Amino acid sequence: MARYTESVCRQCRREGTKLFLKGDRCYSAKCAVLKRHTIPGQHGQSRARKQSEYGQQLREKQKCRRAYGILESQFRKYYDMAANMRGVTGENMLCLLERRLDNVAYRLGFGSSRPMARQLVNHGHILVDGKKVNIASYLVKPGQVISIKSGSRDIAVLKDLREQGSSKPVPTWLELDVENLSGKVAAMPTREDIDLTIEEHLIVEFYSR
Ligand code: SF4
Repeated sequence: MARYTESVCRQCRREGTKLFLKGDRCYSAKCAVLKRHTIPGQHGQSRARKQSEYGQQLREKQKCRRAYGILESQFRKYYDMAANMRGVTGENMLCLLERRLDNVAYRLGFGSSRPMARQLVNHGHILVDGKKVNIASYLVKPGQVISIKSGSRDIAVLKDLREQGSSKPVPTWLELDVENLSGKVAAMPTREDIDLTIEEHLIVEFYSR
């Protein structure tokens, strides 16, 4: 399967913003975005200054895609799905991305970053309504319960969650039960629930060209 080979911190530096791909390190002074202000590449700075309309749209699309850790072909499919739904395409798209099982596991605190949460899903540690689901792109629905397989509850990050509670706020569309290491999907996510600083209209403009 195709995957990113670029350093994760380099991806943040390229986009000039934190994408929170490395867990706790992202919240510390060691974060590469805080330490280094240059954009990777010999001409990074000049590229940032002279960004065309197309360049802005491309960067916004790349930023969102990298934050959720999705390859281009799959990301395009989310756009197509969103465009065929009722409502505002950009918001639909972000809400679809939020409903991915790896993102939900991350939002519930089961992983300290989306890549880590995805690993938990891929390795079969996550259950949906009591059944193992190891597909990171699985879209959750209201009423479903996401939990941890009984034999996996001693994984370090899950132990910490149970003992110390969630270190980051859980969005209102999810209800976390720390004791049981489970979370209920209380509602569909809305744009207001998504804390990423993304101008989704630029992504829509990119694909509508
Ligand atoms: Fe991005 Fe986290 Fe690396 Fe900072 S520490 S650059 S937020 S992945």
